[in-house]
Amino acid sequence: MHEPSLGADLDEVFGVVANETRIAILRALWDEHTANPEEVDGPRSDPVAFSTLRERVGVADSGQFNYHLDKLVPEFVQHREGGYVLTHAGAQVVGAAVSGVYTDTDADLEAAEMGACTVSDCTGTLEASYEDGHVTVACDTCDLRTVMHVPPVVVGTQDVGANPDLLQQFTLTEMQRLVRGFCNLCDGPVGARVADSLTDGPSEGSVAVVHVCQSCGSISHTSAAVFVLDHPAVVSLLHDAGIDYRSIALWQTPPELAYEETVRSLDPLRLEVTVTVDSETLDIVLDDDFDVVEARRGPGPADGE
Ligand SMILES: [Zn+2]
Ligand SMILES: [Zn+2]
Repeated sequence: MHEPSLGADLDEVFGVVANETRIAILRALWDEHTANPEEVDGPRSDPVAFSTLRERVGVADSGQFNYHLDKLVPEFVQHREGGYVLTHAGAQVVGAAVSGVYTDTDADLEAAEMGACTVSDCTGTLEASYEDGHVTVACDTCDLRTVMHVPPVVVGTQDVGANPDLLQQFTLTEMQRLVRGFCNLCDGPVGARVADSLTDGPSEGSVAVVHVCQSCGSISHTSAAVFVLDHPAVVSLLHDAGIDYRSIALWQTPPELAYEETVRSLDPLRLEVTVTVDSETLDIVLDDDFDVVEARRGPGPADGE
């Protein structure tokens, strides 16, 4: 496994980009990169010639300009025939910097109402608040509380209070990337394993899963059910019951739907996720790679649990 050497990488990335002229170069190429939204194939943008780029950035000294431009090649800027274009990494740096503008948006989600609590017997209301890049949805009556990572740009640019589904669609997308093995921060490969505490013995109701990016080292926590959320058998079970799985929010599971996760055996590792909707159940067995090895649909328990 590739060991991340984050410190060295960070020095390199920030060292290269932390300069006014270089930022201006990235900005100028970004403007070119986003200038022709209609162009669907071929290079995303026409190369900008050296002299044009230098004029746009506004550096008179050609040697000094060349020195800074050179530092950005090849990671962030590609030199091709006719001039310079932004690489994908270059576009990501600019995108991340633009997103970073939206850092003081705490007020935007101050106690936004998210609908009725779905915990049985609870008559409370769910409210969302935003702090430090995390949305917290909590019930004003019971102790239901869901915390999820949502970047400031999502909350800062759209009216999440008026359209809470935005949060759901964002977290769904993040989870789908994660279980498919792509890091949400760096796009690197993500490995998943059952949390250490669970391999000691069977658990009750949930199986914690740890996802670690093998490229940047970032860590995410979920549970076994995320690996089956969009499995065709689950999607069709829910569809038959009139539920669109894409609309199920982390904080608001429909009352007729329940997930139960158990460790069925340790060697070989077998996890079971049981999805129950009304009177139907679906048992899904996952192996140690979280691949589905069995999916069995049948009638649910006669009188519930
Ligand atoms: Zn509640
Ligand atoms: Zn990563």
